[in-house]
Amino acid sequence: MASQLNPILRHTDLWYEDGNVVIVADRTAFKVHRTILSQHSLVFADMFSFPQPATNPDESYDGCPMVQVSDNATDMAIVLDIFYNGVTYLLARTQPTWKVVRAMALLGLKYQADRIRNEAVHQLSLVYGSRDVDEICSMQPGVDCMSLEDDDFISIVNVIRSLDLSRKWLVLALYDCCQMEAALIVNGLPSTERLSPADVVRCVEARSELVDLSRDIMEDWFAEQCSSSEDRDLEGPCSAFSTCERILAQLRRVRLPARSKRLAKHDPLLIHCELAETWFFESCASLCVPCATYYKRRDSEARQHILASLDSYFHFPEDNEMTDVTSDS
Ligand SMILES: [Zn+2]
Repeated sequence: MASQLNPILRHTDLWYEDGNVVIVADRTAFKVHRTILSQHSLVFADMFSFPQPATNPDESYDGCPMVQVSDNATDMAIVLDIFYNGVTYLLARTQPTWKVVRAMALLGLKYQADRIRNEAVHQLSLVYGSRDVDEICSMQPGVDCMSLEDDDFISIVNVIRSLDLSRKWLVLALYDCCQMEAALIVNGLPSTERLSPADVVRCVEARSELVDLSRDIMEDWFAEQCSSSEDRDLEGPCSAFSTCERILAQLRRVRLPARSKRLAKHDPLLIHCELAETWFFESCASLCVPCATYYKRRDSEARQHILASLDSYFHFPEDNEMTDVTSDS
């Protein structure tokens, strides 16, 4: 059965001597229990509800019925480990990586293992569920939500699409993709994961608009006309007029490249560009409290406005191609 050139290897941990079924994914064998799989997955429950065929050497391994699946071994190991050791995950209370959440989402969907699928959706909601720009910017991956690598976003977009999740989450994930290098957006990852051609076009087109928005946000940070505007009433008058005027004059002379540090190019929401955001907040700190509060509020409102209309930069077809499942509108 197992050819000499490409033998099946037993998984080191997920191999239970008293198991009664062998799952083979990508030449890795997991000897596990039908009852455990059935408890978690409707697909396995259905599969094992039929009488198992008499042991045929081609369909058995180590004396157990063998089920060959098309998933990769890493994803299967993640999901089986959660089936068996879910409590350990809960007790550890550490944030999962995207790799784990992705396996939970895709295999949870495929095997109708609703609890792990729902947990994956919950993890995505922590990253993409907020509609408050400051909350999104202050979120620390790995601490407040799952940990993320810079090139995870392509795969996140694809999972959000596979699970038919909220359009709002999809738009934010596409926005994250826009921060990647153009070659990555177009060609995808070495793992062969790539965006759909339509999503590549969406990102490329959105990037040119995001550049303009990003420039507008930063040019407007300490713009002269705003200090006399009526909405200044909220914070009250400047409490150190001559000092603030001198500092503001200096800040206005700082040109755009120094403000953006070249990093906020496609990131008007400042989710990914800590340097530009830090420059702005440190500059605000040199002003009196009413002035600092005022300029920060203006900036936050401008970015909140972009977040609220983010959908429009990605040019979705008029028909609702996705169902919006969030109720926060
Ligand atoms: Zn002031």
